[in-house]
Amino acid sequence: MIKKTDPYPHISTKEIYILRNALNSTHEGFVTIDQNHKIFFFNEAAQKIFGYRAEDVLGRDLDTIMTPECSKKHRMAVKHYLETKDTKHPEHIAHSKEMTIVRKDGTKIPVNISFSSFEYKGITYFTAVITNITVIKDLQSQVVRTERLAALGKVVAEIVHEIQNPLMIIGGFAQQLLREHKNDNDTKKLEIITDEIKRLENLLKTIRAHYTPPAMVYKKVDLNMLLRDVFFEGEEVCKQKGIVTRLDLNNGHCYVESDTDKLKQVLLNLLKNAIEAMDNGGELYIGTRMIRGDKVEIIVSDTGCGIPDEIKDLIFDPFFTTKADGTGLGLGICKQIIENHRGGNLLVESEENKGTTFKVQLPLYKE
Ligand code: ADP
Ligand code: MG
Repeated sequence: MIKKTDPYPHISTKEIYILRNALNSTHEGFVTIDQNHKIFFFNEAAQKIFGYRAEDVLGRDLDTIMTPECSKKHRMAVKHYLETKDTKHPEHIAHSKEMTIVRKDGTKIPVNISFSSFEYKGITYFTAVITNITVIKDLQSQVVRTERLAALGKVVAEIVHEIQNPLMIIGGFAQQLLREHKNDNDTKKLEIITDEIKRLENLLKTIRAHYTPPAMVYKKVDLNMLLRDVFFEGEEVCKQKGIVTRLDLNNGHCYVESDTDKLKQVLLNLLKNAIEAMDNGGELYIGTRMIRGDKVEIIVSDTGCGIPDEIKDLIFDPFFTTKADGTGLGLGICKQIIENHRGGNLLVESEENKGTTFKVQLPLYKE
């Protein structure tokens, strides 16, 4: 520890008051503990980051705001530091570190923490300065995702092109033979060939759509009408599968600035996923609600199998699927289309064995 002369010998109660308020009004969380692991200072940003009120943690052990595993590691680091601080090679607590913290309500957020220490009247105090880096992390992963998609996109477009042409020729000949053949046995085989080729052609189309940025034609779209259409298309399948359906639309008109076909594609995709998640029946809900005056949120909710926490981050990745006959391309396309809108957002909330809610946020149409 570096001992310096005090540059603030004049500090008074007034200045302490000012400093305390300065610390309380920063965006960085400040948590100071003493060498016995007791929390000594917990500024307002720290209260927001961790979700605890200062009066509930001050004077208490750091365990209060940490997971047992994290707290154990921290205690060891403090111990090592105290044991070695007067030696030639003191064992410093890591200077700056990216970590995930678990908030009071159980949610996790990524943070950057830097540590410092100082001694006062023989007691060592440790301060952690904590920055919430959720936004930065989100941006980083978005950039990585975009770059990866762009690179992959080129390769995929070439492969798709190379497969599509011979496939078309095979399909054409198969259909020609089908028309000419009257023998039952051959007809069956030829039908299988043409069906499989159609399936492959559709798959290639989906793959290509995934890797080519959607060309959007923005117009004034009557959302209630579109949702009624989508709902109608899903209703019959739902009936057959014992799924109760509920449509809850805004009164009056609701217009969004979007591309009708593309938006319909997104909603049908979400609907299909919801239905596939409810093999043993359940409830499907489609509704809208206004948010922040200039946006509307479309909610597609099911009471199906839900999405386990371990795969929540993967469901938008291309080719990620948990279904035997899935392509894993639906949600990726949905996300691309929605994020193409100014201020568009596709969010998901899900609990395993309880159900899943997808929220599509779109800008309202402005005259
Ligand atoms: P696919 O439907 O072909 O598997 P998607 O991209 O549409 O591909 O979905 C990816 C994965 O996300 C699914 O395989 C499934 O595991 C999960 N998923 C998507 N929607 C839901 C939902 N409503 N309920 C449960 N899991 C879902
Ligand atoms: Mg799907």
